[in-house]
Amino acid sequence: MDRRHFLETSFLAGAAQVQTPPPAREFEAGGTGSTSYQVPVTIERRQSGKPHRGKVLAAIQPHCDDIPIFAGGTVLKLIDEGYTGYLITMSDDSMAGEGSSYGDIVGKNERDTMEVSKRLGCKEAFFLKYPNHNMDAWPVIEMRARLVFLFRALKVDTILVYDPSGLYERNPDHYVTARAVEWAAAIAGMSWDYPEHLKVGLKPYAPKERYYFSRGPQLVNRVVDISDFMDQKVLVNLSNVTQGPAGHTGSRLRRRLAAQGKRLPLLGNDDESADRLYTKHFALGRDRSRRRRWGCAQALRGSNRHRR
Ligand SMILES: [Zn+2]
Repeated sequence: MDRRHFLETSFLAGAAQVQTPPPAREFEAGGTGSTSYQVPVTIERRQSGKPHRGKVLAAIQPHCDDIPIFAGGTVLKLIDEGYTGYLITMSDDSMAGEGSSYGDIVGKNERDTMEVSKRLGCKEAFFLKYPNHNMDAWPVIEMRARLVFLFRALKVDTILVYDPSGLYERNPDHYVTARAVEWAAAIAGMSWDYPEHLKVGLKPYAPKERYYFSRGPQLVNRVVDISDFMDQKVLVNLSNVTQGPAGHTGSRLRRRLAAQGKRLPLLGNDDESADRLYTKHFALGRDRSRRRRWGCAQALRGSNRHRR
């Protein structure tokens, strides 16, 4: 029995008794590799050694806190297993966070994102600087062209991004980014798109694996066990002090409670502990609910993983 089959089997046997009915039919719909409503779920565990050495991943986010919250553990795991990682941020992050002016907010978020990239273990952070909250007014074809260039130049094998089919996603930056990435990843491997790239030495190169995450309901066919990376995921999220649910939120809450003569033991005894513990227990509470949902040792990451 190979490792993957064992993990699938053990997971499905355990989970079926709790809440997941076994898929009965129609794993593939449409005849083109599209996904049906019934999909088998694979639990992806940590692998020993460096099985992904030589491979490249791109984690693509509209805003500086998206990858840290929704896929930070998976990026950490994949880089630990040998991937070279790049972080691509699509918006200029000008509309969220604390600062004295538009430029101040952009600068602070940019510095936070560079720290996020460092703590994730990425080799480099790219900033495409589209207008925050307004990316739906920008031609998606231009975003797609820039992404095709990066996928070819960096030889990206694996992408992580919001699910382009995510239900009830209201933030245009999220769904526009996902749509731009979705098709860029397909045509980066074709030879007729952007032939000028080939004239200057680039070659067609398509990402072959995709991890999609979502804020809303999603067809999940893969759950990544990030138990061993949860503490580092907390540190990654703590980099985002200008915006996002982590940063110094915990220490601010601890002080506010102290001013009222109250104390929440869960936040520890100092500011550093309060930030870290608040992030782990509240800001990343979604990971704990995933753990309960899928019955694994600690936090888990759900994602759709597609072949092109
Ligand atoms: Zn976002």
